Amino acid sequence: MKEIKNGKIILPEGIVEKNLYFNEKICEKNIADEVIDAKNLYVSAGFINIHIHGYFGFDIMDNCTEVQKNLPKSGVTSFLPTTMTMPLEKIKKSLEEIKKSPNEGAKILGVNLEGPYISEKFKGAQSEKNIRKPNFFEIIDEYKDLIKIVTIAPEETDEEFFEECRKAGIIISIGHSAADYETAINAIKNLGAKHITHLFNAQSKLNQREPGIVGAALDSNAICEIICDNVHVHPMLQRLLWKVKPHDEIILITDSLSAAGLGDGIFSLGGQSVYVKKNIATLEDGTIAASVAGMNQVLKNFKNNVGCSIEEVVNLATKNPAVELGIFDRIGSLEIGKSADIVIFDEDFKIHRVFINGVEVNLQPI
Ligand code: FE
Repeated sequence: MKEIKNGKIILPEGIVEKNLYFNEKICEKNIADEVIDAKNLYVSAGFINIHIHGYFGFDIMDNCTEVQKNLPKSGVTSFLPTTMTMPLEKIKKSLEEIKKSPNEGAKILGVNLEGPYISEKFKGAQSEKNIRKPNFFEIIDEYKDLIKIVTIAPEETDEEFFEECRKAGIIISIGHSAADYETAINAIKNLGAKHITHLFNAQSKLNQREPGIVGAALDSNAICEIICDNVHVHPMLQRLLWKVKPHDEIILITDSLSAAGLGDGIFSLGGQSVYVKKNIATLEDGTIAASVAGMNQVLKNFKNNVGCSIEEVVNLATKNPAVELGIFDRIGSLEIGKSADIVIFDEDFKIHRVFINGVEVNLQPI
C-alpha cells in the first residue's frame, strides 16, 4: 500500500487536500508501507490521449511499444494509438503489432483509425493516394474489438457503414471531410456519429450561409476533440469553444507525431517527411502536419487560453475521454476503486512523477 501526502488532489469536482492511498487501485485510508511526498504539487488522474500518432522519435505505425514507453513523460497513462491513411496492408500490420504490444508504459485502450475513409478535399497531412471509399468489412470487421474510434467523411459514407459501426460499438467521428452542415448534422442526429476529429482542422468551416462541420459540431451534442498546441487552433477559437460548448463535450488531444518532444529536425509521419522548425511541423509543400506538443503542454495552453481552473482543464484530458470510451468506472479520476494511474505535476504542468496501475514509471530518457 502506498500513500501520497502533501499533494493537491484533483478530483472531477475540485481540489482537495487529503492523502491518497493506493496499491494497483485507489483505496480507502489504510496503513501504507511507502509514503510519497508530493511536495505541495498537483496530483491528478493520468492523462488520456485519444488521438496521437507518435512521440519521442517513434511512430505508432512502426513502433507503438516505444511510444508507449515514452508517453508517461508527458503525463499520459493511457491512450488510443492513432493510425494514418496508408495502404491497407500497412494499417493491418500496425493493428497486429498494436494488438501484440507488451503492456509497458502507457496503457493501450484500443485504436483510433484516422483514415483511410476520408475526403481528398480535406486530407490535411494524410496521403491522398491511400484514401479509400468507406468499407466496414475490409479492415474494421476483423479488428472491431480493438478499434474504438473511426474517422469518416460522411459525404463519402453509406448508411450501412454507419450501421455496422454502431452495432460494433465503434465511435464514429466526423473529420477530414468537406460535408456541408446538413450532411454533418444528419450524421450526428440520425446516423450515430458522436465525435468530431480535431474540431476546426481539416473540415468544412463556419461560414455565414454554410455553417459546415464546425457549425454542426457547435449545434449538437457531438464530442469535440481539439488540438491545443496553439499552432493548429487560434486561442480565440479555443475560448469560443469553451463558451458555447458544454464542458463535458470537449476533449483535448495532441495529434502529435514522432517528433513530439524532440525539438527541430526532419521526421516521418505515415510515410511522409515532416520538417519541424520552432514547434511547427510541416510537409514538404508547407501543409501543417500533426503537432509536436505533449499532453501536459496542451493542458497548459488550453488553461492559459480560456482561463479555466486546473480541475476543469484536467477533466478534459481524464474524465471526458474515459466517459466517452465507456471506461470511467475504471480510469479517468482518482476515485476509490479505479486504477491507480496518477500524475504529479507543478503549476507549469511539468511532470514530476507518474504511476500506472500503482507502479511508478521511470521518467528518465530510456
Ligand atoms: Fe491525426
